[in-house]
Amino acid sequence: MSTDPLKTGIDLPAGLDQAPAEGVVRLLCWNIAHRQGAWARLLALARTAHVDVAMLQEASRPRDPALTPDLSTWPELADKDAWHTWDRPDSPGRRWCSAFAWFPWSRVEVETEPRVKLSDANWDVPTISHPGQFAVTRVSTSTGPIAALVSIYGLWDAMPGKRSLIFAEPCLHRSISDLTPLLLSGEPVVIAGDLNLLYRYPDFDKWKARSDTVFARFATYGVNVVGPYRDTEVLFPDCPCEQPETCRHVMTRPDPSGQQWQLDYVLSNLFEERLRTWVLPIHTGFSDHAPIIIDLVPEPAGELSSSG
Ligand SMILES: [Zn+2]
Repeated sequence: MSTDPLKTGIDLPAGLDQAPAEGVVRLLCWNIAHRQGAWARLLALARTAHVDVAMLQEASRPRDPALTPDLSTWPELADKDAWHTWDRPDSPGRRWCSAFAWFPWSRVEVETEPRVKLSDANWDVPTISHPGQFAVTRVSTSTGPIAALVSIYGLWDAMPGKRSLIFAEPCLHRSISDLTPLLLSGEPVVIAGDLNLLYRYPDFDKWKARSDTVFARFATYGVNVVGPYRDTEVLFPDCPCEQPETCRHVMTRPDPSGQQWQLDYVLSNLFEERLRTWVLPIHTGFSDHAPIIIDLVPEPAGELSSSG
């Protein structure tokens, strides 16, 4: 039993409170629901679980100066205007964004990549249709580059006057267009976030078919869902999918109605064996989404020599 107050209430799966093996990069993906209190929790969680880089969605700019010594971020802490997601010229957008955080104990170098609106970009400049909707970094160690990381959020769109008609896939399709040069480059990439999509659910009012278009388009570039999954094939009793033969859903976001859904996913063009994922319990009061730990394990030496 831990007596460290920073660790109070942080229940980690077995082994995750130990530093990962040499060469493993530990990531944390979390929609922090634009809550200021989530930042201190994130630091405690990252310290306890030896997280190298956090891939965040719905992150509002951390304002508590006490956090600053342990927190490096993209957007940068001082860049107040950058912590925003732009929607449309006639929309105020959202006062939070997709972001990265890394820490004094991180074992990787983090190189962030600015992206500009398509209308402002030269042809070879990385673009973003909705600035703030996704963020890109590259992580490396002394042995060389590891991967590009994309923290991504599926923005809800709603037509004026039809608030009940909401959809996330148009925004995600635009982000895939923005990311296509990266996806075609063959660079190792880990994409994680709250997609607001349904993967491997039966059809609910066309939600599945619409979600599938996004996953299929990622798959076109060799980028597939690699987790998080449950190890067991036994039906999660409350899973709305009701597919006992195939259900491996993990619950990342309980609905206020009591229904639990998986809305957060990890995708990659790396072999599934190189990514291990764990869903942590909901940190009530800090976010309505569950944090996901992602271990990116090194390529076996044999693969390097056989491919080279
Ligand atoms: Zn299920």
